[in-house]
Amino acid sequence: MRVLVTGGAGFLGSHLCDRLIAEGHEVICLDSLLTGREENVAHLLNHPRFTFIRHDITQPFYIAERVDWVLHFASPASPKDYAANPIHTLKVGGLGTYHMLGLAKAHKAKFLLASTSEVYGDPMVHPQPESYWGNVNPIGPRSCYDEAKRFAEAITMAYHRQHGIDVRIVRIFNTVGPRMRIDDGRVFPTFISQALRGEPITVYGDGSQTRSFCYVDDLIEGILRLMAWVPPDSEDELTRVFNLGNPEEVTVLEFAHLVKEVTEKDVPIVFCPLPKDDPHRRRPDITKAQTLLDWRPTTPLQEAIKRTLPYFRQVLGLA
Ligand code: NAD
Ligand code: UDP
Repeated sequence: MRVLVTGGAGFLGSHLCDRLIAEGHEVICLDSLLTGREENVAHLLNHPRFTFIRHDITQPFYIAERVDWVLHFASPASPKDYAANPIHTLKVGGLGTYHMLGLAKAHKAKFLLASTSEVYGDPMVHPQPESYWGNVNPIGPRSCYDEAKRFAEAITMAYHRQHGIDVRIVRIFNTVGPRMRIDDGRVFPTFISQALRGEPITVYGDGSQTRSFCYVDDLIEGILRLMAWVPPDSEDELTRVFNLGNPEEVTVLEFAHLVKEVTEKDVPIVFCPLPKDDPHRRRPDITKAQTLLDWRPTTPLQEAIKRTLPYFRQVLGLA
């Protein structure tokens, strides 16, 4: 198949490109390099089945060759990145998604949207099933991301209903692994790089808020299974949406202690102010993915940290 991956030079997108190439597909990687890096796909640049095109998808994009799948991953994803680029985040979720759906329609291609657990906001239902509508502040500091993704889901369903495009929406929960930017502000690279440098670990709030971390290889396996999934003849409103993430929940403070243990660095933990609208609890209900895709993550968090350490050591010049 010929697969177009938007955001293909980012953290998740580059792992997706790797896996698609390994499976024998042709990959067109479209990326503006706003938060991604060409180094993430440098090893693929000379591959005969890989093409990198630098393009900002808030502008239309046309391609003559056949496209079978559009995997739409382009968007700033860390709270620090979208706080620095709030208007662009709304544009890429809105205009970018619209352009990529138009491309899928023109090519009669299938379309997969990388959505997020953030569509559930600060959830009142725990764990979060796909049927939960969420608790999102529409004007708060995270709204540029949350509402962009909610718009992206809505326009994806509109193209499905009005034009019959074969779409899938994946709500991704915190995913971690090599190629996360060490300075993207997300808790996983932040705590690990702090420990490796021998600096204090900065826990926001009292650290009682929870997250559930999925190792990147597990997530990519889930995406591939979702691409292979055959939609049923009779559908309801939830048919096209799947949570993917790790249902093992930890508090941020527990995570800080685990990082100290795995890195074997006895650094202090310091408590800093909790950012506004920081979700208190987050854990996916993955019953649907387990039942229909026979998928669940298999990498424990401790192992995810271990597998990522060599990459962070290398980036920090500690290898
Ligand atoms: P990332 O920042 O590493 O990757 C995003 C990529 O999109 C970058 O390479 C960036 O340059 C590119 N991009 C941004 N705006 C663009 C534009 N206008 N045109 C073309 N390219 C553009 O982030 P990531 O963690 O790999 O996230 C990828 C996708 O997965 C995002 O859509 C994000 O919302 C979603 N997601 C990720 C997580 C996670 O835990 N990593 C969780 C939920 C959802
Ligand atoms: N966090 C923290 N210290 C940091 C960075 C983040 O305690 O240095 C917390 C943050 O407040 C949130 C959790 O870790 O509760 C996860 O934050 P992240 O930015 O990774 O992503 P989110 O899940 O909030 O989108």
